[in-house]
Amino acid sequence: LHDVTEEEKIEQDRREFVANVSHELRTPLTTMKSYLEALEDGALADPEIAPRFLNVTQNETDRMIRLVKDLLQLSKIDSDDYQLNLETVEMNRYLDETIERFEMIASDKNIDFHRKLNKKSIYAKIDRDKMTQVLDNIISNAMKYSPEGGTVKIRLLLQGKNIRLSISDQGMGIPRESQTKIFERFYRVDKARARSVGGTGLGLAIAKELIQAHGGHIWAQSEYGKGTTIFITLPYASKGAKS
Ligand code: ADP
Repeated sequence: LHDVTEEEKIEQDRREFVANVSHELRTPLTTMKSYLEALEDGALADPEIAPRFLNVTQNETDRMIRLVKDLLQLSKIDSDDYQLNLETVEMNRYLDETIERFEMIASDKNIDFHRKLNKKSIYAKIDRDKMTQVLDNIISNAMKYSPEGGTVKIRLLLQGKNIRLSISDQGMGIPRESQTKIFERFYRVDKARARSVGGTGLGLAIAKELIQAHGGHIWAQSEYGKGTTIFITLPYASKGAKS
């Protein structure tokens, strides 16, 4: 036995990544193929079954499109010349707007949003589109894993030179050993369940890369069975900072 060198580790990760991508693409393709075969074998003529089977192939196509989109984005972030489009943003207002977009979907699941924002204005230098993508992923996870009637809490506070944002839910939680792994590409706590709710398993990996590109940190704290909090810190920007 010898220690795995850095190069070997990179090669191992690369192989694992390619294997994961292949698997994630093959699953919807196999499903689509079998449904298309069934349609060809007669299901198409059945007015009850045909729309259902066509719907399955639509959903699987959508899943592949989401996956390829996420993969392309990760490969862009990985490239050396990746750049954020930074501007100074007032975070209380920005978060209010973000939460508002979710309120309709939340009320369908009877989920309540609690926001505890800072009393004073808080500024950060962010890439609006990218940060929105990060928060959309985390808030939709919080809602996805919340029980019916649950509460999602969003807090923003100033902590030294950082702003700290947290999104908490009262969902199933994440076992301790998985709390750092959820930020790895394709890691899911429960593969079958996560897939059935439509995720690609890349959302938090992308979120982590984007938050790090902003000079911030992201991590999870969770009590299994009780709920999860995702924390994000970002450098604070003074109001007059040039964007
Ligand atoms: P997915 O597309 O599967 O949601 P993510 O990268 O967003 O991928 O999340 C990775 C995994 O982390 C999820 O599959 C799920 O197992 C776990 N996870 C993320 N957020 C939560 C949460 N709020 N509560 C419980 N589990 C979560």
